[in-house]
Amino acid sequence: MSAAIAVVGAGPTGTCLVERICANAADLLGWPSLDVHVIDPHPPGGGRVWRHDQPDLLWMNSTAADVTLFTDESVRCEGPIRPGPTLAEWLGCDPGGFASRPAQNGYLSHVFRQAVATAPRGVRVHVHAARAVDLAEVTASRFAVNGRDALRFGTRDRRRLRGRFVGLVFQDALTSFDPLRTVGDEIAEVLATHDVVPRAARREGRGGGARG
Ligand SMILES: Cc1cc2nc3c(=O)[nH]c(=O)nc-3n(C[C@H](O)[C@H](O)[C@H](O)COP(=O)(O)OP(=O)(O)OC[C@H]3O[C@@H](n4cnc5c(N)ncnc54)[C@H](O)[C@@H]3O)c2cc1C
Repeated sequence: MSAAIAVVGAGPTGTCLVERICANAADLLGWPSLDVHVIDPHPPGGGRVWRHDQPDLLWMNSTAADVTLFTDESVRCEGPIRPGPTLAEWLGCDPGGFASRPAQNGYLSHVFRQAVATAPRGVRVHVHAARAVDLAEVTASRFAVNGRDALRFGTRDRRRLRGRFVGLVFQDALTSFDPLRTVGDEIAEVLATHDVVPRAARREGRGGGARG
């Protein structure tokens, strides 16, 4: 069976999320394949704020050495640590200097591409240059999932659909995520709710039976 996750918004937060999903996929996956749908009208990585088509005169207000989307030993998280360059290292610029917004776009795009390129076999990332609408309420006349019209699903079928086939990850960090829980915990919760992966496999994927 395959599964799908939709990531709405492909700015820095969405890019981090895709990086963590790809980095953890091998451990978390009980499926032979995972489709990650990344939805944003702007290209992934920079997203809306860090668009490439901005004047070089617009600078960041964070120093280049302070900007990174990669994990290192200072990051407390489950799953693999995947170190990478800071913005300053990637640009080869003064660590205390300030990069332009287009330069930051280059860095963020690189992180996104790198995450996708190093995703394990079976993980496919699809980029949709589109704006997600009506997430809470579907108003389309037809919404097909695996050839079946999901609008005609009853409560039980809809519950099976949510999480098991399609996951939506909201990115307003202040209200959507609990800072004390890892992204792995968030994903594992969906797996538990829908019993997609046997419990033992989930425990192993999250760092061993002792953590169950
Ligand atoms: C002009 C400006 C300058 C900034 N400068 C700095 C700075 O120098 N340093 C710093 O640390 N922070 C800065 N910030 C803060 C900035 O918000 C964060 O750095 C960072 O961009 C937040 O990342 P994010 O992915 O959470 O949100 P965003 O970057 O806002 O990304 C959200 C993405 O979601 C997409 N989206 C929204 N709704 C939908 C939808 N319905 N369907 C599909 N896609 C959708 C948007 O197109 C966007 O690409 C700045 C913000 C602005 C606006």
